[in-house]
Amino acid sequence: MSKILCVLYPDPVSGFPPVYARDDVPEISVYPNGQTAPTPEGELGFKPGELIGSVSGELGLRKYLESQGHELIVTSDKDGADSMFDRHLPDADVVISQPFWPAYLTPERIAKAKKLKLALTAGIGSDHVDLKAAAERGITVAEVTFSNSISVAEHAVMTALALVRNYLPSHQFANNGGWNIADCVARSYDIEGMTFGTLGAGRIGLAILRRLKPFDLKLHYYDPHRLSADLEKELGLTYHSTPESLVKVSDIVNLQTPLYPSTTGFVNDAFLAKFKRGSYLVNTARGALCDRDAIVRALESGQLAGYGGDVWFPQPAPIDHPWRRMPNQGMTPHISGSSLSAQARYAAGTLEILQNFFDGKPIRPEYLIVDAGNLAGTGANSYKLS
Ligand code: NDP
Repeated sequence: MSKILCVLYPDPVSGFPPVYARDDVPEISVYPNGQTAPTPEGELGFKPGELIGSVSGELGLRKYLESQGHELIVTSDKDGADSMFDRHLPDADVVISQPFWPAYLTPERIAKAKKLKLALTAGIGSDHVDLKAAAERGITVAEVTFSNSISVAEHAVMTALALVRNYLPSHQFANNGGWNIADCVARSYDIEGMTFGTLGAGRIGLAILRRLKPFDLKLHYYDPHRLSADLEKELGLTYHSTPESLVKVSDIVNLQTPLYPSTTGFVNDAFLAKFKRGSYLVNTARGALCDRDAIVRALESGQLAGYGGDVWFPQPAPIDHPWRRMPNQGMTPHISGSSLSAQARYAAGTLEILQNFFDGKPIRPEYLIVDAGNLAGTGANSYKLS
């Protein structure tokens, strides 16, 4: 029997289950690169479209795990030495966590988790796990690659449009009973003709470029690995061999690089000074890619015309986090990858990974981040240990 410790975000304050706005979600069985969506065996423990990412939803895992004789603990209490998470960690065999409400698996916590064999991210992005410490301990780290990539791409496109067109303040004027057209449009532009540059053109970055193509922007990208000539031609992409050369010409900059030691805080004062004045910065990758206070300074000085996204550090962001109140921002809590549509896919992927793990079958390489003491699968492409 194994103990599975699952950390999920709290239920809605308005009650669980919610009243659903719709009765179904489209079924996606194949992703744009040909990878199949999760294929767990047997019944899903939920109906796609249900809220399963919060504590009471339990990712729909209880029936399967208990039928196999395992123990499932689900909690949102994850921070502080006396948290439920810390209390159960020492004898947990598997930890499941989500980037939206991450249970940070620091080296200290990994040292306490003597029985831990699998750290599973129900979503994408396993930077809340100290990958080096996990590799040294022989812990497998896996995530549900591609499950919510398109969800995030949609959020990034929405954020770029909302910032450039000054949507959020204009909506606020309408809510407040105003008709202040001049106030609304004094910061409102079209994205048509602008230059959009993404730092990182992997699954999400590329999906954003594809979605923006019909808006007639000039599309630029930087990535350590250049895309194929065919793809560059199809989308009319301009490749930059350095991030600096991309930000110098971009009106809208998008961050889509993974967070690892050498990308932490790389968007700092010195880097922001190289942007065009009045650029917009969209970040749905990770909050800690940016120097928190440098972003505030750039918005206050006008070096950035806007900043938006859904990722913060730490999460949940404290009430006094300056990104909540800085000017010209379009921040949301970390929601882009946890739409009800995305939840159905990452919960099914979590089930598939658990089934393989308990049946002693290999986990798909595209789901692996760390295995057998080193970066593996997707992790070997996307992450670095230093
Ligand atoms: P991918 O691994 O498909 O793409 C990441 C890309 O970034 C790869 O092409 C990689 O290059 C590139 N890259 C690595 N290092 C750098 C660097 N220093 N500068 C520029 N590019 C770099 O990941 P996804 O597109 O699926 O996801 C990207 C990130 O988005 C995740 O790591 C995660 O942090 C975040 N995310 C956020 C979510 C949310 O809910 N907001 C949900 C899902 C993901 P290469 O592999 O070619 O070397």
